[in-house]
Amino acid sequence: MTHSDWIRKDLKYNWHPYTQMKDCRSFPPILIEQARGIKLYDNKGNVYYDTISSWWCNVHGHNHPKIKKAIKKQLDLLEHVLFAGFTHKPAILLAEKLISLTPQGLSKVFFSDNGSTSVETALKMSFQYWQNIGKSEKIKFVSLDHGYHGDTIGAMSVGGVDLFNKIFSPLFFKSFKVSSPYCYRCPVGKQRSSCQIDCIKPLENLLKNKNGEIAAVILEPLVMAAGGMIIYPKEYLKKAAGLTKKYNVHLILDEVATGFGRTGKMFACEYANIRPDFMCLSKGITSGTLPLAATLTTEKIYKAFYAEYNQGKTFYHGHTYTANPLACQAALASLEIFKEENTLVKVRKLMPLLHKELENMRNLEFVGDVRYIGMIGAIELVKDKSTKEPFKARERIGYKIYREGLKKGLILRPLGNIIYLYLPLKIKEKELRFVSRRLYEILRNIRRIIKW
Ligand SMILES: *Cc1c(COP(=O)(O)O)cnc(C)c1O
Repeated sequence: MTHSDWIRKDLKYNWHPYTQMKDCRSFPPILIEQARGIKLYDNKGNVYYDTISSWWCNVHGHNHPKIKKAIKKQLDLLEHVLFAGFTHKPAILLAEKLISLTPQGLSKVFFSDNGSTSVETALKMSFQYWQNIGKSEKIKFVSLDHGYHGDTIGAMSVGGVDLFNKIFSPLFFKSFKVSSPYCYRCPVGKQRSSCQIDCIKPLENLLKNKNGEIAAVILEPLVMAAGGMIIYPKEYLKKAAGLTKKYNVHLILDEVATGFGRTGKMFACEYANIRPDFMCLSKGITSGTLPLAATLTTEKIYKAFYAEYNQGKTFYHGHTYTANPLACQAALASLEIFKEENTLVKVRKLMPLLHKELENMRNLEFVGDVRYIGMIGAIELVKDKSTKEPFKARERIGYKIYREGLKKGLILRPLGNIIYLYLPLKIKEKELRFVSRRLYEILRNIRRIIKW
């Protein structure tokens, strides 16, 4: 088949996620044949730098020999088995390993197969915990404006990205939403340099007044990713964690995006040295090879479900591909690579270069904010730098930059007006310099690109 035959077939049969399919008529999907390291190759000989880690899941680069080998070996033994009434060594080893890497207090692992289900699991466990111990009025959740926790109905109910969720809102369960620590657009009008984390007040007041009806607070630690790569101070996270303890509500940390080294530490919550009641993991867990997710929780929560069968405290929840053995092996291999390749040490050495390169873009036209942590960096474009007036959604700034990025070999997939890099940890210094230079070029020519 020719290239255009493939594309015609794709558009005939596939419905792509987060895509206005009508756009594909003038700008069809790119047919990728292969990937190596941080580069993707299409069938026409074009090369693209995977600057967003294949939707934030690739960690050690594409086609890593160690992960491939682990999957192939497992494939000859056992490809899948139901995880109720049965178990297998990869899941046992991985659970043990995850517990050793995550904050103290997390001692039980519940596997599933994607980020949204890891969140659903945490929400349902928290909810049922309070039911099981007789506090049946604690049924609501608190989440942040601009927060994102997945696309299933439960996860959307605690989501704060209107563009994605608004149309579905009649389906949501009731939850409380508070403003987020969005420093560039501070909800209480402060400057970061002198702020005392006053933006925690709405959360504090809510917990003080309504803790009797609240099951849990759910947060993305330090980086609100899909909401616009909003990076907030660790002091906020620390205070929020303290408040959940004080007012006896659970803290669910959604590390689906931030986990596995993205921020320069294995998990973002390590910056605040806190102990959540739940932690949700997915995306980077298998370094982007196979779907897998895990929800970790504490002994205390586990014990509230542990009872004689007839007491009705069982957790009736599960997914067919829970703890898939191939995926567990991929995850174990990925964690070994962290050790063998000294991934985090290398990342910490490289981070300052990324941050410096991004700082150089701060003075460019339309660049309102530059923010970064670890191997994540974001640039918020604004119409007017002094008033911070945003571009309108219908101006499709992000889309125009996306298309320009592809021409220049970069997979920028902006979130609205926020252009970001979410780099595979495996990136080399030379590649990092190349990517930032290209991004700089694009931003320098932005007036031409957006024709504004
Ligand atoms: C992507 C994401 C999810 C959802 O994960 P899926 O695997 O896409 O369902 C949940 N939480 C956060 C923070 C995410 O970034």
